[in-house]
Amino acid sequence: MSLLHDFCGVIREKWPEMKVLEEEPLKKHTSFQTGGPAWMVFPKTIAEMTGLYRLCLEHGISPLILGAGTNVLAPDQGLDRLVICTRDLSGIRDMADGKIEAMGGVTLTRLAVHARDLGLMGLEFAHGIPGTVGGGVYMNAGAYGGEIRQVAEKTTALLPDGSLWEAEGEVQGFSYRHSAFQEKQAVILKTVFALQPGDPAEIQKTMQDLAARRRASQPLEYPSAGSTFKRPQGGYAAALIEQAGLKGKGVGRAAVSEKHAGFVINLGGATSKDVLATMDLIQKTVQEHSGICLEPEVRIW
Ligand SMILES: Cc1cc2nc3c(=O)[nH]c(=O)nc-3n(C[C@H](O)[C@H](O)[C@H](O)COP(=O)(O)OP(=O)(O)OC[C@H]3O[C@@H](n4cnc5c(N)ncnc54)[C@H](O)[C@@H]3O)c2cc1C
Repeated sequence: MSLLHDFCGVIREKWPEMKVLEEEPLKKHTSFQTGGPAWMVFPKTIAEMTGLYRLCLEHGISPLILGAGTNVLAPDQGLDRLVICTRDLSGIRDMADGKIEAMGGVTLTRLAVHARDLGLMGLEFAHGIPGTVGGGVYMNAGAYGGEIRQVAEKTTALLPDGSLWEAEGEVQGFSYRHSAFQEKQAVILKTVFALQPGDPAEIQKTMQDLAARRRASQPLEYPSAGSTFKRPQGGYAAALIEQAGLKGKGVGRAAVSEKHAGFVINLGGATSKDVLATMDLIQKTVQEHSGICLEPEVRIW
């Protein structure tokens, strides 16, 4: 802790305006509402983010990157690591030819609404995904037939040696809930989205329809991280979990949602240990029942 304490002193000296939180409960920053204390920093510009990341390298600090925390399970005991939260990297720039550049911390909802207002379609699927551009690109987030890979044209990221990486088109390496940024441990700074002209009223209607489908099928009233497991080859995780008789089952205050078996939910007061034990129960039971090994979609820190 004292290394981080000293390092945060260096950050404060260099960027007196930057928000630095000591021993901040991660449960306040994750959609599962679990996770113990960590040191958190919130850069506001790409220059700050880049400078901070390079300063970390100079000091032998290996930071974790958090967006909106909607796909992360953080440890109950907290982390002896610096967490850089991108939420304040919130700039959007309109470009010509149906393109929009968004910084890593822009929420997908805000980006989709912004595109609608410009009469640009292609991001309707992302409107209900509660993460950021950085988290969405990193995870190749998708829903209802749409995926980030269909619209992300070029991403600027930081590589672990502090250099900038301009990844364009195929180089971004998207596949199902996967991108090249995962293997390269790259930090996404901004992405250019290439969209098509569309009627704002039609775009709005599509977004409303998808939101209604979400509300009807997902337990949005409980803290969760969305689908806990990836879709296995030739099946759906939720169907396999339901067929294994796991709806409503769980450990401690975590449980498989009755409404959508693909969601592990926090019933109130769950710990990450409860969530992990519930995930373990699901994996073992589904394996016994169907022989299929479910792989977590949630990133376990
Ligand atoms: C109710 C609910 C519904 C959901 N529905 C969907 C859905 O329909 N489709 C879907 O795909 N997902 C869904 N999710 C999961 C989640 O919203 C997505 O995975 C989202 O893309 C995560 O973004 P985030 O900013 O919250 O990332 P975080 O949870 O903060 O981080 C996720 C991972 O991305 C990394 N990361 C975050 N930002 C950056 C960055 N700038 N650079 C490098 N790495 C970064 C983190 O280190 C971590 O490994 C849902 C979640 C919830 C709670």
